[in-house]
Formats: sequence, C-alpha cells, structure tokens
Amino acid sequence: MAARNCPSCGRLVAASLEFCPHCGYRVGAMQAAAPQFRGPNPHNSIFWIVMAVLFCWPFAIPSVIYYNKSDNAWNVGNEELARHYGDKGKRWGRAPLSICLIIIGILLLAMALGL
Ligand SMILES: [Zn+2]
Repeated sequence: MAARNCPSCGRLVAASLEFCPHCGYRVGAMQAAAPQFRGPNPHNSIFWIVMAVLFCWPFAIPSVIYYNKSDNAWNVGNEELARHYGDKGKRWGRAPLSICLIIIGILLLAMALGL
C-alpha cells in the first residue's frame, strides 16, 4: 500500500486516507485547497481547562493537548475529529472535579459512620 508523509505532523499516512490518523490534517484530494476560515472551534472549551487547573493541574495537560488537536482538526475542516478530540479534552478537564466529588463523598460517608 502506498503511503506518504503528513505535511502537518510528518508521520506516514496511507495513500487511501483523506485525513492523517495521527493529527487530523487533511492529506487527501483536498490537500491543495487552502483551509478556509471557519470561525472559532465550538468543541474547544477553555472552561474545562481552567477547572482542571483549579482542581488538579496535571489533568489540564492532556486536556490542553486534546483541545489543541481539536483546534487543528477544526482548522482543516474535519468537524468529526474536532468533536472527538474536544470531547476527550472535556473529559480530562472534568476528571479532577469528579475525583474531588468522589473523595468528598467518601469523607462524608466516613464521618457519618463515625470513623
Ligand atoms: Zn499528521
């Protein structure tokens, strides 16, 4: 199977694919067309990054990475991939909040049981 390098991330992409599976860059037939400006990426949310930083900052790192990937996919017109990575970024941003609530719940339960 023929393959070429992705102009965005430099990794090998099968010639049959229209989008780079690593970064979402459009490498297919539309390669020559300049990516048109589509407005801000609606799948990117700074809110969850801020939440992750507040509750447990290490969780903000994958969140930022996924939102960055989401932006890249959005800029090359790959709506589906932009949403996919946006959801992942949101999940990472929400994780510390969920963990915090679970720990508080366990502590309240322990207090209620008189431990
Ligand atoms: Zn790529």
